[in-house]
Amino acid sequence: MLKSINHIGIAVKYLDESIETFRKIFQFDDVHREIVEEQKVEIATFKVGDVMLELTSATDESSPIAKFISKKGEGIHHIAFETDDIKKELERLSGNDLKLINPVPAEGAHNMLIAFLHPKSTNGVLVEICEKKEDN
Ligand code: ZN
Repeated sequence: MLKSINHIGIAVKYLDESIETFRKIFQFDDVHREIVEEQKVEIATFKVGDVMLELTSATDESSPIAKFISKKGEGIHHIAFETDDIKKELERLSGNDLKLINPVPAEGAHNMLIAFLHPKSTNGVLVEICEKKEDN
C-alpha cells in the first residue's frame, strides 16, 4: 500500500540559489544536503509539515536530472509515495501493467530504497515509491 506522500522532487540548475529562493517561501532553518552517486545528483531537502521538498541538481551531464532540465526546464520532477514494502508494491504495480523504470529498488537519499514508475504509463507524472530501510 502507498500510504503517504514522502516528498516532492524539484529539478533545479543551481542548488545554492534554489535553497535561498525556497527559504524565502518556507522559512526553514534545517536543510539536509546529500550527494546520491547512483542517481548523479545532489539534493537539498527540507520539511513542510509532514512532506519533504527535495531540490535536486545534477552532478554530471549524464544525470537524469540534467536530461530532464534540458528537455523540460526546471520544475516539479517527481512525487514520491511511501510504502512499508517496496518489493511487494513493485510486484503489484507491474502486475497492473504499469511500466517500471526500476524493477529492482535502488539506493536513494535518506537511507531509503526507491523505485520509479515510467511516466509513459502514468500520464506523464514521474512517480517514485520509497521505503525507509530498517537500519535507520
Ligand atoms: Zn525522490
